[in-house]
Amino acid sequence: MLTAKEIRESFKDFFRDKGHQIVPSAPMVIKDDPTLMFTNAGMNQFKDIILGNAAAKYKRVADSQKCLRVSGKHNDLEEVGMDTYHHTMFEMLGNWSFGDYFKKEAIDWAWEYLVDVLKLNPENLYATVFEGSPAEGLGRDDEAAAIWEKHLPADHIINGNKHDNFWEMGDTGPCGPCSEIHIDLRSDAEKAQIPGRELVNHDHPQVIEIWNLVFMQYNRKADGSLEPLPAKVIDTGMGFERLCMALQGKTSNYDTDVFTPLIGKIAQLSGKRYGDDPKVDIAMRVIADHVRTIAFSIADSQLPGNAKAGYVIRRILRRAVRYAYTFLEQKQAFMYRLLDTLIESMGEAYPELPKQRELIMRVIKEEEDAFLRTLDNGIRLLDNAIAAAKSNGKNEISGKEAFVLYDTYGFPLDLTELILKENAMTLDHKEFDEEMAAQKARARNAAAVETGDWVILRDGEQEFVGYDNTSVPVNILRYRKVK
Ligand code: ATP
Ligand code: MG
Ligand code: MG
Ligand code: MG
Repeated sequence: MLTAKEIRESFKDFFRDKGHQIVPSAPMVIKDDPTLMFTNAGMNQFKDIILGNAAAKYKRVADSQKCLRVSGKHNDLEEVGMDTYHHTMFEMLGNWSFGDYFKKEAIDWAWEYLVDVLKLNPENLYATVFEGSPAEGLGRDDEAAAIWEKHLPADHIINGNKHDNFWEMGDTGPCGPCSEIHIDLRSDAEKAQIPGRELVNHDHPQVIEIWNLVFMQYNRKADGSLEPLPAKVIDTGMGFERLCMALQGKTSNYDTDVFTPLIGKIAQLSGKRYGDDPKVDIAMRVIADHVRTIAFSIADSQLPGNAKAGYVIRRILRRAVRYAYTFLEQKQAFMYRLLDTLIESMGEAYPELPKQRELIMRVIKEEEDAFLRTLDNGIRLLDNAIAAAKSNGKNEISGKEAFVLYDTYGFPLDLTELILKENAMTLDHKEFDEEMAAQKARARNAAAVETGDWVILRDGEQEFVGYDNTSVPVNILRYRKVK
């Protein structure tokens, strides 16, 4: 059985042999793009090349990219832990052609890699192709279909709609059809009941998308019309953890060696077993997932904070702390103790982790400690509010109560919502927003300067000046804005 490390390397080896330059992953946290906080796909770092604003140094590249999907267009946070194949942070394996090869090579090589090199059973594979959009004068992607027909029987090629099978960067710019490869990992008995093709793109946990091949061949102009793109682009992305699941004969990403060391460590530290109780299992998956996100963000010098990307990371961390607290009964800081396990499995591929081990551990522990100090009281308050609402026959708590949790106890709104959801309850969002607006107005009146995590020293330069009231020393992190 191939290990995760071997699988990652085999992808790079394969595309290196096909003339690709292997490039490093771009940072997961993006510091200089107002439109995007986190890298959410392999293509992000090549955006300027694809848009024609920068020259491609290499016409063929491949990599393994750290991605985070917790905000904006791609937000998988709600799925994480509940299902077994969406993560907040994941690795996307990808290969690109900038004005070089196109559909034929992209499809043939994807097939060669999966079937000839990795020996996946072709009977379990399905490909989707764009069905067309007559309103825009776009026909079915027969070109891609014809290439797939060399590899797959007709009933394993499935037409897909614009939502799933047409990729656009925005309202204007490069776009084109895509073909997704899906894999059916069910048992033979299950397959006999419903054919895999009927489950493709239906959120079945064992019939899942593994690889998306995007064929950028048009440019959408401001008036909405399409013209052929002068330099066509291949952009592919494959979920590394899902590929590991398929190759290691598992039915959950968390059963692969990407996650088993973390799950094992969580079980050992908490004295609980994975697989005994669905609630504990969800908690363990959430924690194993979130600790990666938090550790990699800090390694990319994005600390938890009160605004923007920092708050996204803090929310994720607090979410994990609450799961550990409620379902694993961890009343002390806990997650920072998973770091060495994470470094053991990922430190070689991502040296930024071992390099910043001490900082990462200290920041996580301090965040955990700080939140645990108020978590107990906050949960009690929320439990009381839930009980009071229930006894009044209501399934909603007030926005005021949710705001106190946010403001006094540091509960991110989505954490309150999550706990409410576990109790089949909601909250009054309108009132919450009003409370928030009122507090902002008070703050504006009270103080001239807002102090965030960052203080601007000079135009274009930022210096890290401390982390809440904790002891991360000044000057550990310095960077220049790339503006
Ligand atoms: P899905 O339909 O499963 O949500 P997607 O269509 O949103 O996936 P793409 O944007 O096409 O995903 O990304 C390329 C590949 O990255 C997918 O084929 C999948 O293997 C993987 N992937 C996408 N989202 C996640 C995630 N949250 N966690 C792990 N892997 C993911
Ligand atoms: Mg998705
Ligand atoms: Mg999809
Ligand atoms: Mg996709």
